[in-house]
Amino acid sequence: MATCKKCGRTSKETAKVLSLCVECIRKMDKKSLVELEAVHTRSRQGFNLPASPPSSPDGIQCGLCQNKCQIPIGGRGYCGVRRNEGGHLKGGTPEEAAVSWYNDPLPTNCVADWVCAGGSGAGYPQWAYRPGPEQGYVNLAVFYQACTFDCLFCQNWHYREHSTTNQTHTAAELAEAVTAQTSCICFFGGDPTCQLPHALAASKLARPVRNSGTPGKLGKGNISNGARKQNLQRILRICWETNGSMSPDLLEKMMSLSVESGGCVKFDLKAMDANIHRALCGVDNSRTLENFAVAARHISERPEPPPLVASTLLVPGYIDALEVKAIASFIAKLDPNIPYALLGFHSDFLMTDLPSTSWKQAESCLEAATEAGLKRVRIGNVHILR
Ligand code: SF4
Ligand code: SF4
Ligand code: SF4
Ligand SMILES: [Zn+2]
Repeated sequence: MATCKKCGRTSKETAKVLSLCVECIRKMDKKSLVELEAVHTRSRQGFNLPASPPSSPDGIQCGLCQNKCQIPIGGRGYCGVRRNEGGHLKGGTPEEAAVSWYNDPLPTNCVADWVCAGGSGAGYPQWAYRPGPEQGYVNLAVFYQACTFDCLFCQNWHYREHSTTNQTHTAAELAEAVTAQTSCICFFGGDPTCQLPHALAASKLARPVRNSGTPGKLGKGNISNGARKQNLQRILRICWETNGSMSPDLLEKMMSLSVESGGCVKFDLKAMDANIHRALCGVDNSRTLENFAVAARHISERPEPPPLVASTLLVPGYIDALEVKAIASFIAKLDPNIPYALLGFHSDFLMTDLPSTSWKQAESCLEAATEAGLKRVRIGNVHILR
C-alpha cells in the first residue's frame, strides 16, 4: 500500500518502492523516468552489482545482451557475472558459469507444460517418450545465477547473491548431469542470456547426435565417451526461459537448438508500455520485442510442439488488462497460435507490499488476451490467486 507521489491516490496496488501508480507511469516524460533510476540503483547496491551498464571507453565490450557493457579492467558488467580480468572477458563461458542444476520429475510446473512434449506428450513419438505427461522422466532444470534485467518484483531474486561469487561449473560438468532419464533441459534463472556461451556449449555436449556425427568442439573440458554414447539416438529437448534480451545471433542459435530437439523458447514479455517496463525492470523492452518477432519466424520450421511460447507475470496494479491486451495484440499479429500463459504473482523482493494477483485481474487479462486474437491462452499459478 502506498500513495502515488504524482496524483496523490492511495492504493494497496501501488508499490511503496515506486510510489507511483500505473496511470502516472504511463504518462511520465523522459526526465521523470530518469529519476526512477535511483530506485534500481538502490536495489542493486546490496548485491555489489553495477548501478547501470558500465561504459568505460577503454573497457572490453560484451555483446551478449542489449546492455552492451564496456567493462573496465577489474570491473563487472551490469549482470555481475561477466568481468574484465586483466583485459580478458571472463564469466559465462564454457569454462566457467555461475550455475546450479537439479532434476525436476516430469510432468513439472513449467510455463509451457500445457503445450510441450514433456507436460502433454505433444509431438509423440518423435519428440516425447509418452503420448501424455512424461511420467518416469526428468527435466534437467539449469538455474543461471545472473540476469540482464533488474525487476523489482523478481520472483527468483536470490540468484543475485551468487552472481559475483565466482563459484562456477564448466559446460562439461553440466552436460555430465544428463542421464538416461533426462528428456529435456530447461535453461532459466536469473536468465541464461548473460551466460549463453556456457549453455550453448553444454547443450551441444549433451545432445543426441541422431546421425552418428561428431558433436562440436567445445572449449576446455570433455564429457566422457560413455556419457556421450548414452546420449546418442534419444530424445533430449532443449528449452529456455528468458527475458529475451540476448544478441540476435545468439537467439538464432537458441531457436535452432530448440526447433531441432523438440524443445521451445519461452519469452517472458513483462510489459508492452516502454515506461512501465523501464520502471519495473530497469531497462528497455525494445530488444525483447524485436527478438520475439525474429523467433516467431522459426515457427513454420516445426509448428508442433510449439517452439515459441510467451508468458506475462500479472503484477497487481501494474500489469493490468490494458497492458495484457497490448502484449497479446503484438503476439497475435505475429501468429495467433503462439501459446500465452498469464502467471499469478506473489509478493517478493522489493514489492512485498503488493497483494498476490486476484482472480478478477487474472480473468480480465485472460479476456483481454482472447479478445486480442490469441487462440491459446491460459492462466498459470492458479494456486497463488486470491
Ligand atoms: S551479458 Fe549483458 S549485462 Fe552482462 S556484461 Fe554482457 S552486455 Fe553487460
Ligand atoms: S523443459 Fe521444455 S519440454 Fe521440458 S517441461 Fe519444460 S517446456 Fe516442457
Ligand atoms: S528478468 Fe526474471 S530473473 Fe531477471 S530480474 Fe527480471 S524477473 Fe528476475
Ligand atoms: Zn498516480
